[in-house]
Amino acid sequence: MFDLQRVSVAYGAARVLKGISLRIREGEKAVIIGPSGAGKSTLLKKLYELRQAQCAFIHQDYALVAQLSAFHNVYIGRLDQHSTIHNLLNLLKPQKAELSHITPIFRAIGMEEKMFARVSTLSGGQQQRVAVGRAIYRRSSIILGDEPVSAIDPHQAGGLLGLVKSSADTVILAMHDVQLALAAFPRVIGLREGRVFLDLPSEEVGEDTLADLYRRS
Ligand code: ADP
Ligand code: MG
Repeated sequence: MFDLQRVSVAYGAARVLKGISLRIREGEKAVIIGPSGAGKSTLLKKLYELRQAQCAFIHQDYALVAQLSAFHNVYIGRLDQHSTIHNLLNLLKPQKAELSHITPIFRAIGMEEKMFARVSTLSGGQQQRVAVGRAIYRRSSIILGDEPVSAIDPHQAGGLLGLVKSSADTVILAMHDVQLALAAFPRVIGLREGRVFLDLPSEEVGEDTLADLYRRS
């Protein structure tokens, strides 16, 4: 699915990814961890570039249209897969067929009663759920997510992660909550200063390794 070989990315003179080699097979569920600035978001964007047509991307800042309803923001996940007339009809008034597809997603993300609320009136956590719902609705074979549960209560984040994992064949997320990441994902990729510092089954990631990954340079 992804086969990176010594991939480097720079912003101007600043090298951010420094020779990343990484293979991710179809069907894998993997999480990227590492200190802030290590290059997690840059790596996810690189993966997205490589397989854009097959990917749904959950943005760290949600990337929602604040003036539209939660329903319409989820609907946007498949805008390019419907005809213009279908899109216009649904923009004016959500049609039965789309409601029958989108309502269960709102139920799954725990937002059914907010389906027609304007996004600008939702809390950060609720907006993040809508961003997750939009990615699920896209029905892509790959979901990439940049800290997609960062604004969700810790005791609800696990459930939402489970939903994301079951909504696409291949799932790759960046996360800052290490314990949650280890509990939810079988494979852990640790980035440090633009390099792959570790790439292990989560049960093999010990406290010492984590301390090393996150140590101050
Ligand atoms: P992470 O997601 O692990 O926090 P990022 O991939 O966002 O890391 O960033 C890695 C490094 O690249 C940081 O030092 C950051 O400041 C820098 N960086 C990220 N985006 C840009 C950009 N658009 N222009 C310049 N530097 C950037
Ligand atoms: Mg980031």
